[in-house]
Amino acid sequence: MKAVLSSLTPARVLFTRLMRRLGRTPYFGPLSTVYMRDVPPPPPPGPGEVRIRNRLCGVCGSDLHFVLGEGDFRIAPAAIPGAGYAYMGHEVVGEVVELGPDVSRFKLGDRVTLERGRSCLALGRQPFCRHCAVGNYNLCERPVEELGNGYAGGGWGAEIVAAEGHLFRIPDEISDEQAVLIEPIGSGMRAVCRRIPKPGEKVLIIGQGTQGLGTLASVRALQPDCHVTVQARFPHQAEVSRSLGADEVIMLGADLYKEAARLTGGRIYKGMFGNRMLLGGFDVVYDCVGFPSTLKDALRLVHAGGTVVLVGVYLEPMKIDLTPIFYWEVDLIGVLAHGAEDWQGERISTYELIARLMIEGKMKTDGFITHTFRLPQYREALTTAIQQPPRRST
Ligand SMILES: [Zn+2]
Ligand SMILES: [Zn+2]
Repeated sequence: MKAVLSSLTPARVLFTRLMRRLGRTPYFGPLSTVYMRDVPPPPPPGPGEVRIRNRLCGVCGSDLHFVLGEGDFRIAPAAIPGAGYAYMGHEVVGEVVELGPDVSRFKLGDRVTLERGRSCLALGRQPFCRHCAVGNYNLCERPVEELGNGYAGGGWGAEIVAAEGHLFRIPDEISDEQAVLIEPIGSGMRAVCRRIPKPGEKVLIIGQGTQGLGTLASVRALQPDCHVTVQARFPHQAEVSRSLGADEVIMLGADLYKEAARLTGGRIYKGMFGNRMLLGGFDVVYDCVGFPSTLKDALRLVHAGGTVVLVGVYLEPMKIDLTPIFYWEVDLIGVLAHGAEDWQGERISTYELIARLMIEGKMKTDGFITHTFRLPQYREALTTAIQQPPRRST
């Protein structure tokens, strides 16, 4: 079967970066980090495993880091062995087509999506670590050498064989097109669950790519009674943001500090060298870009004692002014993917929460998907996602 793979050998990473410097972005060729190959289909499912035939798979922002050969070998995750993976595509919707022995949770024809990554919870390895014990498989501390990869095949290929513990059964009320968004919305939902806006609070979401839209849709689903401002880059993003319930849209290029002051009643102070600080800003800022520049703004646009949630992913050491964290007691909290959430007295997985809100019609997803490609067009799909043509995005 054909599958898109990634390989992050130093030679491929360095060559991909060199080609980018020469203007070939993204670069696909004999030494690219991401490429298509003919590979044998995954082996028959073992005990507790199932075979999935893929129907749809998304392009994640994290996939693009692989394509671009981004990341610094000095960041913390690079110290962990096996941080890279070989099969691309994790935002997948597929159908169970073969059952291994002792499968208890699934039957043939069930639609599923990959939920839990490499974790003791997914693989049922008792005793669970402290995080898996409470459903947070995303924070699993079990040594990676013990766990292995967990599943064979990927979403950008025909089939996957996975342990049933990896999988989330898609309820019948949810279409394939909605289901393929559950994983990408996961980190936005988790970000909002880590600091749910209170009634009447003023919220800023920086960035309206998939993460930002997912955060916006999650804020609206969990707390309809708050005032939400978003910063968007492209007109089509602004359109979707408004339809998802943004009260205010600030376009990239407008003076974010001035707009923030106008919307929050805060006051801008100016120091030397263009140094600006807003006193009395937003209650919560979700930084869904995660660049040093956006995180710097986020920390300055939240009011004293407010919260910044870092949703965007940046894979290099940052040089950034952290003084707002102690000078104005700003809380900076991070979020990784999805795990388990406390919601209305229940502890349920982030996926389950999203699925329920989709079924209740509270989680809107119109406008998220703009392009669909067949697998052999993967280069075109990735180029579209990276270059974001001015009219639309993936
Ligand atoms: Zn993803
Ligand atoms: Zn664990």
